Amino acid sequence: MKFISTRGKVAPIGFIDMFLMGLGEDGGLIVPETIPTITAAQLKEWSKLSYQDLMFEVFSLYTNNEIPEQDLRKLIQDSYATFNSPDVLPMTSLNDSLHVLELFHGPTFAFKDVALQFMGNLYAYVAKKQNKVINILGATSGDTGASAISSVRGKEGIQICILHPNGKVSRVQELQMTTVRDDNVLNLSVNGNFDDCQQIIKELFADVPFKTKYHLRAINSINFVRILAQSVYYFYAYLQLPEKVRADGVNFSIPTGNFGNIFSGYLAKQMGVPIKQLVLATNENNILERFIREGVYKPEGFHSTHSPSMDIQIASNFERYLYYFNGENAEATASRMEQFKSDGQLIFSAEEVARIQNDMTAYSVGNSECLDTIKTYQDRYNYLLDPHSACGIAAYEGAGNKNDGAFVSLATAHPAKFDEAIRLIGIEQKFPEQIQELFDKPQQQVVVDNAKEEIVTQLEQFYKVNQ
Ligand SMILES: *Cc1c(COP(=O)(O)O)cnc(C)c1O
Repeated sequence: MKFISTRGKVAPIGFIDMFLMGLGEDGGLIVPETIPTITAAQLKEWSKLSYQDLMFEVFSLYTNNEIPEQDLRKLIQDSYATFNSPDVLPMTSLNDSLHVLELFHGPTFAFKDVALQFMGNLYAYVAKKQNKVINILGATSGDTGASAISSVRGKEGIQICILHPNGKVSRVQELQMTTVRDDNVLNLSVNGNFDDCQQIIKELFADVPFKTKYHLRAINSINFVRILAQSVYYFYAYLQLPEKVRADGVNFSIPTGNFGNIFSGYLAKQMGVPIKQLVLATNENNILERFIREGVYKPEGFHSTHSPSMDIQIASNFERYLYYFNGENAEATASRMEQFKSDGQLIFSAEEVARIQNDMTAYSVGNSECLDTIKTYQDRYNYLLDPHSACGIAAYEGAGNKNDGAFVSLATAHPAKFDEAIRLIGIEQKFPEQIQELFDKPQQQVVVDNAKEEIVTQLEQFYKVNQ
């Protein structure tokens, strides 16, 4: 198994090199040379496996034995030992045909933990094996930063700096990041918005001497390992369904922003999970919904919504889908991305739109519809959804073909994380203890201006002290 770039200009590399590279050096995204497939019989054999053992099987198809079996098993075991459910990702059935897969039982109560807990351990493993220093640098709108910090705090050979927009993340998200006191963690709270943070990060990564000097690594959703780790829960959800039910295949409704969550489902389907509908759920930032419905991929005005982790204009994983849509043709993919860069949009023909709609359907959820869905499901099922998970459910209601077998809607965050929205509809919730206790802890962060030089100074000081 080798890995290549969607733009075709990265020589085939192995699993660990791919993990360390993150974004392809030609600006493309990394994909496997061929997607491994499994048979129905093999899939059935996996139905008795725990989440951890299932993940081991899926990863083994990709890792080329670069990580010895017992090491990989231990990495996986350690990564999910921090989850507060024995099933890791428990599934709740709301009725005979609608099931909710809860992806939020990790240490920061959002689905990012599913992939990042593992990636943090894998970074530490590689740092030790290769005797390398690893400095993780990233920007966050809230969930990714909290999860990434939690995954590497206190680990040897690895340091992390996360930029977040000052005052523009939820209260719980801020506390989850800034109450961590380990020496290898630096929180920079930037007087600006998320795009400003992202822009500075991009510039620092584009500065090759700086990047090389400090061994910078990214932790955003462009890393293929993150996509692969997320594909496992599509296998798991399918296999959790009773055999009779899953005989007809399964459908998913998927809250997505960066196209990461849904692309993982697309990958699982290519690998052999009998998935029929992939319903893509967006909030009012609906570039992906417009792409699927009208065949126009074009960023429009930014909306602040109740589901901020999906407030995204440009979906970084879109290019991965485009590559497969183009029949794995890297040249065609590169030329379409060039076109997007010069025109600011991509237009697809009617014939192409039909093919896209064959792969997935889409639904965009307005702010009030999101809150209404939370209220309705609380009343009807006594089940409290967070605003992101509610987008998934609203999309199932609005665009899922319910005559087509079982539906699994992905729940991506615990409602306590987004209490600001829940309170708007007059619902009071009891926080889990791990969240409640955050409110009493001292915070540690450095507030900086939206200026690259100031951030570079902070970073250099951090790296020097911790060398
Ligand atoms: C990140 C996130 C999403 C969207 O995931 P993508 O990788 O952008 O598709 C959905 N819900 C929550 C709670 C998230 O944190």
